[in-house]
Amino acid sequence: DSMFSTLSEVPPDEPFAVNGAYKRDSNPQKVNLGIGVYRTSDGNPWPLRVVEEAEKELFEASDVNRHEYLAIQGDADFLSLAADLVFGFGDYEGSSRQVAENMRQRVVSIQTVSGTGANRLGAELLARNIRPGCVWIPNPTWANHYTIWDLAAVPKKEYPYYDSTSKAFDFNGTFRTLSTYAKANDVVILHACAHNPTGADPSQEQWKMLAQLCKEKGIIPFFDLAYQGFASGDAKKDAWAIRHIFHDLNQVEFCVAQSFSKNFGLYGQRVGALHMALSANAPTNVSSNLLANLCHLVRGEYSMAPRGGAEIVKTVLGSKDLRKKWLEDLTTMSERILQMRHALFDELVKLGTPGDWNHITNQIGMFTYIGLTESQVSAITERHHIYMLSSGRISISGLNETNVQYVAKAIDDVVR
Ligand code: PLP
Repeated sequence: DSMFSTLSEVPPDEPFAVNGAYKRDSNPQKVNLGIGVYRTSDGNPWPLRVVEEAEKELFEASDVNRHEYLAIQGDADFLSLAADLVFGFGDYEGSSRQVAENMRQRVVSIQTVSGTGANRLGAELLARNIRPGCVWIPNPTWANHYTIWDLAAVPKKEYPYYDSTSKAFDFNGTFRTLSTYAKANDVVILHACAHNPTGADPSQEQWKMLAQLCKEKGIIPFFDLAYQGFASGDAKKDAWAIRHIFHDLNQVEFCVAQSFSKNFGLYGQRVGALHMALSANAPTNVSSNLLANLCHLVRGEYSMAPRGGAEIVKTVLGSKDLRKKWLEDLTTMSERILQMRHALFDELVKLGTPGDWNHITNQIGMFTYIGLTESQVSAITERHHIYMLSSGRISISGLNETNVQYVAKAIDDVVR
């Protein structure tokens, strides 16, 4: 016998399980629309050109410190560039250096093991110190939110995020649920842009009302920012909701879990940051003690985040020239995704596939909730070797000129 024989069974993580099934399939026509990673029009991963350039620069610099420990907080220059990208402090520097500096002082940042680590660290800090009554999770959401908040032992409740009739964000349901049931000190998970899995986002007007609601009720917003710049090609636009609440409702305190997996294509390097935005009225000693608490948690868990990927991001964001190239690479990715949305839509319209497919081009980011039922998803995988999540979430970047017609025909086949 083993002392582990009583362990409860844990289901496999769906995106990684679907990815494994795809890899094992020997059919040459197979298509992977499961996992959320960028693919080129040849179906290959894409190390960003700007990342390769930065890697070369770092390799040639051959700095003797390059494998040293980072500080527990992480790399200070990386963190300041990362925070700037989220909050746009640089935009205020023109009018007043002091104004920009005051804003920087309101944000406490720590390097994390990518976006997942940032979500996890933020959840742990809030659970231990703020003791939220519950966390409001959008239904549906990135499935890992459930695991993360489970591990933090915070009770979970759901708000209805998606309206399957209009195939759009369910603003009324969200607003009604939070305004009726959420209490002060509850946390609400908000996808800052390109909601995973639906690709449906609030409008700016809706964001304003949600932000105001959080302010009035004392709800703690927790932004998950995994697709900044990747969604629209414009890093500023994709951070609009966060910047609005930070600048216009400057007493609301909130968290941002920032990932560089998608927008730098650094998935396996685990680059990210957690930013805690403080009220403009916060006493001055709060930020150093908050940072000390975050560092304490990180030290006990894994001492510090890895440095390799953060060096790359720091090199790119810190150089005017490389930053420009990064924006070009972002455009390359977001435009290809947009083209594929239109291509899939056009093919389905051409086939006269029953149903309304406008949501494919209305939704944004890496994913679309295509609108297949669970049994239609099983059928498309069995009959056509096309892999996607059982919810019907598809990763658009798995589409390309070679397979989009095949995928459209398969969708047509299973919905008829
Ligand atoms: N949050 C959301 C909504 C995501 O979709 C992802 C990745 O798929 C992440 C966070 C975190 O990813 P990572 O840990 O690779 O940064």
